[in-house]
Amino acid sequence: MAADYYKTLGVKRSADAKEIKKAYRKLARKFHPDVNADNPEAEKRFKEIQEAYAVLSDPEKRSQYNTFGRVDGDPGVSYDPFRQAGAGWQDAGGFRVNVDDFAGATGGFHDLSDLFGEFFGGARAGQARRRTRRGADQELEVEIEFAHAVQGTSVTIPVQRQVGCTTCGGDGSSGGRPCPSCHGAGVVISTERLRVKIPEGVADGQRVRVAGKGAEGRGGGKPGDLFVRVRVRADSFFKRDGDDIRTTIPVTFSEAYRGGEVEVGTVHGPVRAKIPAGTNSGRTFRLRGKGVRNMKTRAFGDHLYTVQIVVPKVVSPAGEETARSISELYEGNPRAGLPSGI
Ligand SMILES: [Zn+2]
Repeated sequence: MAADYYKTLGVKRSADAKEIKKAYRKLARKFHPDVNADNPEAEKRFKEIQEAYAVLSDPEKRSQYNTFGRVDGDPGVSYDPFRQAGAGWQDAGGFRVNVDDFAGATGGFHDLSDLFGEFFGGARAGQARRRTRRGADQELEVEIEFAHAVQGTSVTIPVQRQVGCTTCGGDGSSGGRPCPSCHGAGVVISTERLRVKIPEGVADGQRVRVAGKGAEGRGGGKPGDLFVRVRVRADSFFKRDGDDIRTTIPVTFSEAYRGGEVEVGTVHGPVRAKIPAGTNSGRTFRLRGKGVRNMKTRAFGDHLYTVQIVVPKVVSPAGEETARSISELYEGNPRAGLPSGI
């Protein structure tokens, strides 16, 4: 049995083109796959709505349908959005990006009110009421290695952008029917691989702006910007403190007591550093300019290394004898004068 297209769209048989279009828009928005992920019932309804509209919006087909209760040939539904909807989008280049990979960072990319704003809201057919509006800024997150953050790097990011549909030129309709490419939205989601330079010295949580790579503007408006929020993986040795780098350098009792030279690893490579005689554990020394380059001032921070005296693990009679001799070098109890409570 043929479907009742009027019933599908919820309009009377006497409804005019405007009423049919209005009903179609309302239902298409409600059952669109983008707002009904993994909902087979909505998928079915959406297809029925499309089919009904394809027939009832075409005067010739509508007349044929009214007379014979069916329309011969292709009802004009060729676009299947379910091929694209779901976990990922496939672009022409065959590059697949899973939206879930950017969970939490895709906020601006899939803004339905943006996607449908023009189609369902503002510009009515034949009524050019296009407002110029700058595209929305978008943000996504990338995680990079500590060394890459210090030295600068570049990352390739699959970016989903709303772009004007080239099939219909952004009108949303072609030959009186919803455009088969964008299904009336006037915009499509395109994925491009964007190479973004991450400047030397970027810190965890900082954002890198890529001008003009946000959402496309409307009515000739400029596109928004893309902000790449950088997450820097922690390093087990180098700790960042602003533009400074902090490390802990283990030394022997002898090195601390007599003084000496140790190799201190920095983000600029190894540096021979002096330990003055009589250095206490916990004392921190500064290597100027051996830190991270500041993204704005381009000046380098410092490297701060903290000395930590390590005690030999093996206890031997000779060691005990030596330790006793060392104890005699202290002038009294090192804990003298400490409060015994509050
Ligand atoms: Zn189109």
